[in-house]
Amino acid sequence: MTFDLDLFVIGGGSGGVRAARMAAASGARVALAEASRMGGTCVIRGCVPKKLMVFASSFREMPAEARAYGWDIGDGAFDWTAFRARLHAELDRLEGVYRRLLDGSGVTIHDTWARLADAHTVELADGRRFTAKHILVATGGRPERPDLPGAHLGIVSDDIFLMDHLPRSILIVGGGFIACEMACILQGLGVAVTQFYRGAQILRGFDDEARGLVAEAMKARGVNLHCGTNILEMAQAGADHGLTGAVTGGGMGPPVGESHAPEGQSGGPIWVKATNGTEATFDAVLFATGRAPNSAGMGLAELGVEIGRRGEVVVDSYSQTAVPSIYAIGDVTNRVNLTPVAIREGMAFSRTVFDGIPTPVDHELIPAAVFTQPELGTVGLTEEEARARGPIEVYATSFRPMRSAFAGAPDRVLMKLIVCQQSRKVLGCHIVAPEAGEMIQLAAIAVKMGATKEDFDRTVAVHPTMAEELVTMRSPVRKA
Ligand code: NDP
Repeated sequence: MTFDLDLFVIGGGSGGVRAARMAAASGARVALAEASRMGGTCVIRGCVPKKLMVFASSFREMPAEARAYGWDIGDGAFDWTAFRARLHAELDRLEGVYRRLLDGSGVTIHDTWARLADAHTVELADGRRFTAKHILVATGGRPERPDLPGAHLGIVSDDIFLMDHLPRSILIVGGGFIACEMACILQGLGVAVTQFYRGAQILRGFDDEARGLVAEAMKARGVNLHCGTNILEMAQAGADHGLTGAVTGGGMGPPVGESHAPEGQSGGPIWVKATNGTEATFDAVLFATGRAPNSAGMGLAELGVEIGRRGEVVVDSYSQTAVPSIYAIGDVTNRVNLTPVAIREGMAFSRTVFDGIPTPVDHELIPAAVFTQPELGTVGLTEEEARARGPIEVYATSFRPMRSAFAGAPDRVLMKLIVCQQSRKVLGCHIVAPEAGEMIQLAAIAVKMGATKEDFDRTVAVHPTMAEELVTMRSPVRKA
């Protein structure tokens, strides 16, 4: 059978673009369809704009610190409109880079929605059809809203980067990556942030000691964090929402009538009733309650592709679905939903299918960082996970780092290693500190190589740094 193409990629995010370029470099005839903007979640409405907002928000504390170091410098105001213009200019530039990379690789771009008509045919929104020997689904995911009265009044992470004005107050719902990062960012930009998390402690799944320290630091910086709390119901403040009682303000948000509703978002302040019995109004409510795979409406299940309970495309370790010609990578498979993992999956797919080198995706010991302030960097097992698997030693130190201690700030950092008593291998490394994302990237190389505690010990410290503690901790703080 002859095909129009060797590969049709649906989705122009990090994973899809990398797979398309690699396949084309191997000589394949490749087309890619993207219904939104090239670059996907990471570039357009995720990691990149988020990190630029992290940088923007981090300047808030700098004047005070600079003054402590002898600079004659005053506090300034943050101009969201000016920043947003520069942010979007940068996103436009990056989108252009992605397009040029695809063009340069010989990949044909279709700026439109695509679905599968059969196991080898992709149909575009305008009805055009292309046959391909292989089809790669790389459609990513989207933010999910909880099912509660008035939830449509809330915004999701996609909306943050498009706001015309910063709200004066915001309620952030959730305790994961996005909720915690956005809480720190918006608080740093001058927004009064309240955060509700339904569980006992934010950042479930991370090392308990590390998440505890992040939570403490967030509260110390002014995030009004309420754990064990969720929204019961919400409505437009002042509207006749048929709910009992008057809007009270509850002490958590601004009084009705005094807030600046973000244009194009809601029609004014939002009244929220919480599970802890309090009521308050906020200029905006952000749901950071998880993301769902974009698999619906593409004809996948109809063709025999297995779809999991959360809508994820089920694949094997080569990213192949139950239909041999159809593969899937990235967030739509809901394996490890991180950009670099999607890129790895795209590369492994291309190597397997177009270079003839079967390459399973290695999902072990993936480092990650939560860009809170301070950041949380992590690789490997948490203390709790490691303890359940066998005897361990825990090496940990929490201290005031030189830079902020000099400026009189109360910030603390954490350096922590989990060591297997038997093999001496470092099973996990957890860092809470400014730039922990940068530090964990390097520590992860050692952990991935199987370094032992003694390998860490015989590495000479870089002095004076925060990370030197990783190689100078001599005695375990506990054994378990
Ligand atoms: P997460 O899965 O990390 O967090 C979702 C949060 O919402 C959890 O705290 C969860 O609580 C809570 N939640 C879920 N449903 C409800 C509900 N109905 N009511 C109230 N709370 C609810 O998702 P995110 O959206 O934060 O991020 C999605 C993924 O994107 C991440 O898992 C990560 O893979 C990726 N990401 C990575 C980043 C990075 O690398 N720095 C940055 C941003 C995103 P509970 O814990 O109880 O389940």
